[in-house]
Amino acid sequence: MSGFTRDTKRYGDRLVYEALGSKWRRYHDTHCRCGLNWVTEHAEPAGFTVVRSDTGWVALIGPGQTEDVDESALTTDALWEAVTGKPGLGWPESVRVIDRGEASSAIPQRPVPSAAAKQRERRPAAEPWPATDKQVKYLTTLVGKVGRERFDTAFNVVVHGTEIAPRGADERTGQALRRLTRAAARKLITALVGP
Ligand SMILES: [Zn+2]
Repeated sequence: MSGFTRDTKRYGDRLVYEALGSKWRRYHDTHCRCGLNWVTEHAEPAGFTVVRSDTGWVALIGPGQTEDVDESALTTDALWEAVTGKPGLGWPESVRVIDRGEASSAIPQRPVPSAAAKQRERRPAAEPWPATDKQVKYLTTLVGKVGRERFDTAFNVVVHGTEIAPRGADERTGQALRRLTRAAARKLITALVGP
């Protein structure tokens, strides 16, 4: 499975993106069609580094994907853009933490919180009802269906008169969606699904 991974045994304290070869080859074949190797011809020239590979998958680190990113709002946009030549959709993904602690170990091993996680803890409590992961996922799908323009218009209509700021010009879709309250997300879904 493709995914953001923390696995101290394999990668130290680095955040990596494990990319499933068949999946990313399919993305590349569909969108780029140059017929070359997506890792060496696109990912590496874009600044990604292969830190490990095996049959069927490669573990990558790179700018915008695992480096200089807000770990609470990870997306595969950077790799997607490098490999397909098209902008990503801001699909949010979470980090899978693989704990290979010895089964016999008496003391449970806990992952060291990252700087981003510590910062999140220091932040004052977010509003009580943020959009659920399900809503964010569904809205992300809807962006792809209705197009960015209709989505942005609906977003700004829904947040008008609330404490939620309108969509920022350079803001990634994933970030904008994460700012929604549960109620606003519901309204936005209704607006986009409607006729
Ligand atoms: Zn290509």
